[in-house]
Amino acid sequence: MNEERRGVYPFCAPCTASSEAWAAETAGPMGSRFYGHRDVCENCGSSVRTLYNTVLWLPVSKVGQFRIIPTGGRTYVGRKVVTLPVQTVVRREPVSAIARHPELDADPGYQQAEVYWDDHEPGRALPFYQSALTEREKVLAADDPATLRVRLRVAQGLLATRNYGRAIAWFELLTPQLTQVFGPHHELTRAATEATTGARLMVGGPRSEAQLLADIVAADEDSLLARDPQVVRDRAALGRALLACGDISEALEALTQVVRDATPGHPDTAVYRAALAEACEIAEGRGKKREVQLAEAARRVLTGEGAPTSM
Ligand SMILES: [Zn+2]
Repeated sequence: MNEERRGVYPFCAPCTASSEAWAAETAGPMGSRFYGHRDVCENCGSSVRTLYNTVLWLPVSKVGQFRIIPTGGRTYVGRKVVTLPVQTVVRREPVSAIARHPELDADPGYQQAEVYWDDHEPGRALPFYQSALTEREKVLAADDPATLRVRLRVAQGLLATRNYGRAIAWFELLTPQLTQVFGPHHELTRAATEATTGARLMVGGPRSEAQLLADIVAADEDSLLARDPQVVRDRAALGRALLACGDISEALEALTQVVRDATPGHPDTAVYRAALAEACEIAEGRGKKREVQLAEAARRVLTGEGAPTSM
């Protein structure tokens, strides 16, 4: 099963291809409401509906068109309908340093990974991609296009083998890096965005995600050193899930530890620092005493001389 060609659950592949991941905004002072109901899909039952901002239940401005599947009561899952072809901006493929290291692509383990992947055997490909990634990171930058391609395969392999928590942790790291290196509309970036949405739907909401990741971090801590990149990555995902649950103090504690343990100069560290800065902003905006104190401590870690920095 190839995650790139399948639909994002519960949408079928054609409906997935004609839309993009969309996270519904939380309700503001204005409301919003769907109108219309057309293009019902026989495969997945989704239909295209138009979302309007409403004031006192009156539609005042159009937000856009969405493919919607009701999930009971007033809940639904939706994807934003894409009207323009996504490859409208011509962007050159980024240059990789792998040309100077032909042994990486020629490596029998990497070749084996590719064969398994093409045979729709992601579980068998995964360990080979994981060791290929280790080899690449020894000679290439972590955000070299050739490294990122294998990192994406590792994340996709985890997703395909139902390791949803660890897959989410990888995709959250990868998506900003792919966006930066390949651009937001590149097929690899889109594959990562879609996969994150798919993994989240399988996990079933921030609370289940936080619980799953807390168990994963506990298992990591039993078997790995404190600053092992896997522990740091999984804890960062836990921190983000806690933030999504509104557990701001716990999120700040987890993300502060992540930034303390992250490897200086590594591109992952920039992603972790951005997550902690976001948590600080949320805490400062809410103004609750304990959260503000934790945010102050976190800011000191972000700016402090002893703290790991990136780039
Ligand atoms: Zn469909």
